[in-house]
Amino acid sequence: MYLDNTATTKPRQEVIDAMMPYFTEKWYNPSSLYTPAHLVKMDVIAAREKIARFINAEPDEIIFTSGASESNALALRGSGADWLVISDMEHKSINAFYYDSEQLGYFKEVVQMPVDRYGRVSEHDLKIAIKELREEEAKNGNPDCKFIYSEYLCNNEIGTINRIKSFTDGTLYHVDATQAFGKIPIDVKQMNVDFLSASGHKIGCPKGIGILYVKRGTKVNPLILGSQMDGLRGGTENVPYIIGMAKAVECCNLNHNIDMVVKFWHFVSQVIKRKIGKINGSLHERMNDIISLTISENVHGEALVYWLSRKGFYISAGSACNAGSGEPSKALRAIGLSEDEALRTIRVTLFEEMTNEDIDSFLDALQEGIEALKTIRR
Ligand code: PMP
Repeated sequence: MYLDNTATTKPRQEVIDAMMPYFTEKWYNPSSLYTPAHLVKMDVIAAREKIARFINAEPDEIIFTSGASESNALALRGSGADWLVISDMEHKSINAFYYDSEQLGYFKEVVQMPVDRYGRVSEHDLKIAIKELREEEAKNGNPDCKFIYSEYLCNNEIGTINRIKSFTDGTLYHVDATQAFGKIPIDVKQMNVDFLSASGHKIGCPKGIGILYVKRGTKVNPLILGSQMDGLRGGTENVPYIIGMAKAVECCNLNHNIDMVVKFWHFVSQVIKRKIGKINGSLHERMNDIISLTISENVHGEALVYWLSRKGFYISAGSACNAGSGEPSKALRAIGLSEDEALRTIRVTLFEEMTNEDIDSFLDALQEGIEALKTIRR
């Protein structure tokens, strides 16, 4: 039973079928001028239009990338901001700007804002912090210092859905929507963000394609130079994957999160009834399929992952991106879990076709694993 759609999703057959002709017959470079190449270019244009419409963007606001990690890098580094402000709950592709800040040297300063127990930054505290930093910079003779604030839309470890912020002081706003894209409706105009990242492999497309939305009028400097994507992301377009992502978007269920509510509450009520542990994050403003569970018994999350894998249940401890590090997750520590609690935590992703019986059989196996492992920890 695959319970790790947050790490990646199985490519959909419809998506693979839509991609295939672009490997076998329509393999031309869309920038070439002869007819078959031009036809490929038209297909890329149609795919871009479909993806743009999906988030209420304009086609020229979409840049295709290799995935959300690249989209995040392009937004943050490409923004030309001097200061980067983030929470301490972000994906590694963003967090690394903070932890490796000096060595990377991309920003003058990187600031991390604390989060509450649901993983949210207070908009009030954030605005005060940025205001104070701006004033400090102005005093030091840098009144035009540029700030960018970046945060997730849905957290990949605890499932919390963030509340969108609004800035009136010129702070650029980037939202990493990787775990929300295709699962809840996203309207970039309503959200009024400058940048938004998403990835194909979380919605049934193979790995290696993502998008960055850049609001018209927001300047972005390319990381890869070239003529494609209006000079904002060089490299011959990854045509089959662009077509695949457009197909994946077409197959998305925007009611996904609503459809998962009943399964989420069945899972939660069983966890409580069986006294297995506690669920992290908000129980309400959340993605209902991403469940972070701290086990009450003294059992290591990664040991449970291996044990359950042998029984045919595939889950994560924390997130796939930290897997195998043996380190407690920074995100779980940030919401107030002790090091020990963070190490006793697993992440389970429910899926749409999952029945209550499936949930129960997973929890039976989990309890068996806890019983088997609790005696051998430390
Ligand atoms: N941001 C978030 C919130 C993610 O969950 C992920 C994938 N784990 C990424 C960014 C990176 O996406 P990709 O694998 O497409 O680079």
